[in-house]
Amino acid sequence: MRLGPANVEPYLAIFGRYLREHGLPVTHQRRAVARAVFSSPRHQSVEDLDRVLRENDLRLGKATIYRTLDLLVRSGLVEEHDFGEGFKRYEHRLSRDPVHHHLVCIESGEVIEFRSEELQRIVEETASRHGFRPTHHKLVIFGLSRASQESGAEVPYRGITCPIEVAGSGEAGASSEAGGSADNT
Ligand SMILES: [Zn+2]
Repeated sequence: MRLGPANVEPYLAIFGRYLREHGLPVTHQRRAVARAVFSSPRHQSVEDLDRVLRENDLRLGKATIYRTLDLLVRSGLVEEHDFGEGFKRYEHRLSRDPVHHHLVCIESGEVIEFRSEELQRIVEETASRHGFRPTHHKLVIFGLSRASQESGAEVPYRGITCPIEVAGSGEAGASSEAGGSADNT
């Protein structure tokens, strides 16, 4: 299971050692950001962390948070995720089972973790078949969480209306306005 706040100190010490080994000062601000990430099992954005820190009367500024997160990621203690939301999310890697995958709700932004031994086996078998030595892999399932479905959210459809009809008519090039490429003069 994930660490509670009470167990954070040893990991702050590891981060402190990483900073010293790289000639960087162990500042109060860096420790505060690290503590905020280590104390939560969630996949937090910079906005989330800024809010948590402010709730603890710490106004560090987003630039400090970004820079500290960068160091935490480079230290290997924190993992960075890009779920295509226009911002990154961060989670600590201190759980006993760091290999897991994510379901991301496109309505609420909720992130649910799951683990699958079967998936792990498929990854290993696939890599082996290609003579590939795997280091890591990612699987993100996007969609609507149960809560979002129950609150009436529906999956937005962003594609063209009927691809079969266009392909069958032999006039596939007829609608060129969709790509927004007509503005280069
Ligand atoms: Zn996760």
